[in-house]
Amino acid sequence: MKIVRVRNPEGIVYGAVEPEGIRLYKGSPLFEWESTEVVAPFDSVQLLSPVFPTKIVAIGRNYADHAAEMGSDVPDAPVIFLKPSTSVIGPGAPIVIPPDSTNVHHEAEFAVVIGSVARNVRAEDASSIVLGYTAANDVTARDLQRADGQWTRGKGFDTFCPLGPAIETEFDPLEGLDVLCRVNDEVRQAGKTTDLVFGVAELIEYVTRVMTMLPGDVILTGTPSGVGPIVDGDIVDVEVQSIGVLSNPVVKP
Ligand code: MG
Repeated sequence: MKIVRVRNPEGIVYGAVEPEGIRLYKGSPLFEWESTEVVAPFDSVQLLSPVFPTKIVAIGRNYADHAAEMGSDVPDAPVIFLKPSTSVIGPGAPIVIPPDSTNVHHEAEFAVVIGSVARNVRAEDASSIVLGYTAANDVTARDLQRADGQWTRGKGFDTFCPLGPAIETEFDPLEGLDVLCRVNDEVRQAGKTTDLVFGVAELIEYVTRVMTMLPGDVILTGTPSGVGPIVDGDIVDVEVQSIGVLSNPVVKP
């Protein structure tokens, strides 16, 4: 099932993608929801980020080829950092280059969407607290990140966490699915979900030993090699196989 969150003339609701349109639901897949008789045509709704998390936990250097291009070794344990909820935008919304940076990078990632309250979850139980998976762009002001090592500053600006377009509930990272980034239709990153240094189950165990994950919270699993700059006027697409294409324009006010 592909879960989306949409704005339609009546407000913001959840839905599920069907061949002829989006089946609208009452409630939320994070708590309780119920399908309605309404199937909205695709062009009648605006897609939003599929969740609005209380926090985004992101993983650094979780692909060996990306760690190498950053001049780093693969870490011995997951490197975690937080992106603020206010960095989240949905499909089609602009990534805004902040005045403080002249080197903003794309980072294509696949993301875990947590489905229930999760604390001290063992790796073997991890799948029980996952609602599904979506695509993410861990947008990064690389110059600021390198200048002072404050990842939260370099990666925490408003609009720096596009999520979407849908949550795929049938997604299995162990199938080796493609994680791609294109800028203006040119492929910049091409990885596989099986290339992770620390897999999803291990990440969930590690993160939930530290903090309680709430329904709708998100774990960004790291980015493959090929990160690079995005500038005013670019269109950046993150495509995760079986989830879809997350496309955002880039603007510098
Ligand atoms: Mg990243």
